[in-house]
Amino acid sequence: MIHGTQIAIEYGYQVKAKPLPASVVAFSNAGKGKIFVNSKLPEYRQNFGILHELAHLQMKHKPPYTEEMEIEADQLAAELLLPISNIGNITDLHFLKSKFPYVSYEFLARRLADLGHMVAVYDNGQLKTKNGPLNGYQGRIARQAFVDKADVQGNEVTAFYVPSNGTWERVILVCFLA
Ligand SMILES: [Zn+2]
Repeated sequence: MIHGTQIAIEYGYQVKAKPLPASVVAFSNAGKGKIFVNSKLPEYRQNFGILHELAHLQMKHKPPYTEEMEIEADQLAAELLLPISNIGNITDLHFLKSKFPYVSYEFLARRLADLGHMVAVYDNGQLKTKNGPLNGYQGRIARQAFVDKADVQGNEVTAFYVPSNGTWERVILVCFLA
């Protein structure tokens, strides 16, 4: 049983995994206390999708959901999936991934950002997301990781080289809290 399903059951919900269109991660039936999840998606996406729906149900959100409700559901889902207190002061993404294999590297990077670290995600050499200003030095550390195909350690910053999933090559830059 996947991690998200275990948590949903603890909260008294039933989870049904079935093939759904690619654009649908999960949905719920509040009356029946059921959460449906797309069995065709990778496990880490199913986990987050289940808990996002659980969050809507727990917070008694009524569809159609507003943008604000979606943000609340994402926040609660993240906390259910990996409580911030479980991360403690660990900032090594590979170590976190080995400890919490049921979440994605990108999710772990977002949790480090929630803790106040500056995080940037690069796919195939291009900056995709960041939660703060980057300087030239930090950008060079990230580019070096693509060249080396390995982690690069800098001053107060580490570029983590994420094993490719076949469609992209990813580097996650974490600039540590002083
Ligand atoms: Zn939602």
